[in-house]
Amino acid sequence: MREDLRRVAIYGKGGIGKSTTTQNLTASLSKMDKHILQIGCDPKADSTRMLMGGKRQRTVLDTLREVGAENVKLEDVLEIGFGGIKCVEAGGPEPGVGCAGRGIITAINLLEENGAYTEDLDFVFYDVLGDVVCGGFAMPMREGKAREIYIVASGELMALYAANNIAKGITRYAEHSGIRLGGIICNSRNVENELELLTAFSDAIGTHLVHFIPRDKIVQRAEINRKTVIEYDSESNQAKEYSKLAQNIIDNDDFTIPRPISYETLEKLMVDFGAIE
Ligand code: ADP
Ligand code: MG
Repeated sequence: MREDLRRVAIYGKGGIGKSTTTQNLTASLSKMDKHILQIGCDPKADSTRMLMGGKRQRTVLDTLREVGAENVKLEDVLEIGFGGIKCVEAGGPEPGVGCAGRGIITAINLLEENGAYTEDLDFVFYDVLGDVVCGGFAMPMREGKAREIYIVASGELMALYAANNIAKGITRYAEHSGIRLGGIICNSRNVENELELLTAFSDAIGTHLVHFIPRDKIVQRAEINRKTVIEYDSESNQAKEYSKLAQNIIDNDDFTIPRPISYETLEKLMVDFGAIE
């Protein structure tokens, strides 16, 4: 593994747009000649689908259960997607059995042992479901697998509630594992004063807004065509927004240990910005 490999985790509540944002981000980065490994760390296992032309990848954990850890071959679980991006889905435990977080670490360790982290890589992205209600999802940060965390959020209360919880997780493990918060990515839900609210929220927890991604139907159109927006229409406004996000992440030098806020402060922030009445 290269010393300067950027190990990035994208966290956020379920359905907020982590996988959509991550895939469009990595697709943009690939166009900037960056070499990328993207690892889906959500039992939903659809993190890399649009990079793979709609294909559902065989997950590391399913493969491991079928053939046993010592028989898993890298080529069974790692496939090359759009822009040469190396794609992996960690998968999850059988529903109702076991800890998803532990499974993810098992999967990452297996990838490390099998040489997935080649010297040519500039970035590895972990796309992680993170409400951090279950400690398991904090594993990639706790174990130091990721070094910089970006949180995808919107102006909705539950999205910011989850973002604040994820910030608490980072604070807890920052000292021990060296992880830092790189910023908030707003994936817009067209909430009133959303940009201002997300800027204020970022400031309140001691970080900054990396970029504001508009809500745009072209995302669904691209999805129906089994493509990222970058592949589907690279000249579109939405593609340009993802490219700006990519550039901001390349240039980012603001890494902090966040200061999570209380639920009352969060609610007050929402009211102040007219996001709730
Ligand atoms: P997560 O990975 O956080 O669970 P997804 O990336 O799967 O969430 O996003 C859920 C759905 O939201 C996607 O199917 C996509 O259609 C939609 N979506 C995400 N981002 C946008 C956006 N910026 N504009 C419009 N739709 C979006
Ligand atoms: Mg996802």
